[in-house]
Amino acid sequence: DTISSPEALAALPLRENLRGLSPYGAPQLDVPIALNTNENTHPVPDEVVQAISASVTEAAGSLNRYPDREFTELRQRLAEYLGHGLSETQLWAANGSNEILQQLLQAFGGPGRTVMGFPPTYSMYPLLAAGTDTAYLAGQRGEDFSLTAESAAAQVAEHRPNLVLLCSPNNPTGTALGLDVVEAVYQATEAHQGMVIVDEAYAEFALDGTRSALSLLPGRPRLVVTRTMSKAFALAGARLGYLAAAPEVTDALRLVRLPYHLSAVSQATANAALQHYDVLLETVEDIKAQRDRIVDGLRGLGLSPAVSDSNFVFFGGLEDAHATWQGLLDRGVLVRDVGIAHHLRVTAGTEAETTAFLEAMVDVLGR
Ligand code: PMP
Repeated sequence: DTISSPEALAALPLRENLRGLSPYGAPQLDVPIALNTNENTHPVPDEVVQAISASVTEAAGSLNRYPDREFTELRQRLAEYLGHGLSETQLWAANGSNEILQQLLQAFGGPGRTVMGFPPTYSMYPLLAAGTDTAYLAGQRGEDFSLTAESAAAQVAEHRPNLVLLCSPNNPTGTALGLDVVEAVYQATEAHQGMVIVDEAYAEFALDGTRSALSLLPGRPRLVVTRTMSKAFALAGARLGYLAAAPEVTDALRLVRLPYHLSAVSQATANAALQHYDVLLETVEDIKAQRDRIVDGLRGLGLSPAVSDSNFVFFGGLEDAHATWQGLLDRGVLVRDVGIAHHLRVTAGTEAETTAFLEAMVDVLGR
């Protein structure tokens, strides 16, 4: 994972808690069918490409000046998109939800503080913790990777973390948490005043009836819901993540953000895209249909896919997950080996990509 020799890196005066860590490294391979990073694999619609181009062209003329440090128009548009009676004072944005999470850890974590996550979960959580020198506490899930309100609340009450990261729908398992879990965890942080972050990167793909933690924000000043334009909006390359929380949370983040962290180009891109969010979200229903097709197809192969509220499917029952991963890659299909024995994760792509994946699976497993 390093480009120099491990000895050369070890010789640098690196912070102790970064020694021996591997960087985030989902393979970026040139394959016909890339279903390994949960992007929206549909291209950006023409209409939106035109709108973004015009907006960026206009912004280009003013690049001699720093951008609006408060990205006011963007916060208004995001509040409008989310609904739930949110105002722009409750919105905050950054370069991907990764930067949002980093800023939250910078403001509320840090040396001597702790953040709790529930693995298997988003692989960046421990790395963001290390980068901000926040101790990462790994909570426990059930055998089937589920997390109940009772169990989560008991673990939070016992360890009293400064921050709790609840990923819903969870990456890599794909399943959303019930709001009872968020409510119980929030209550369990009352005694020690911990922050509760619900990472809803995949919220737009949820199954009917799954509710967003946005509805829990009123009256909960330490609750934060993070979102991104990288998934449903098909704009991973634009790097635009955001959060909704009490206005005082955004004030806390103003203390740690770099001045002008959201470039004029990023703001112009996101503002234009949000004017067309209905068009951008048109692919969501198709992706959900492909996801359900993957679940059915894998069940038909005798495998055990998890319930998915997201644009990917986590499935078990493989004899040798790495061999299956390699077999798929040999057939031009890249999926994710998340390092859990007998399991793999695949992104729901277009109908053609899904067909290619399912056919390759039949071929690899010889079933
Ligand atoms: N949260 C989760 C659960 C994710 O899976 C991802 C992307 N893989 C992110 C956050 C970060 O996405 P981005 O920085 O592109 O918004």
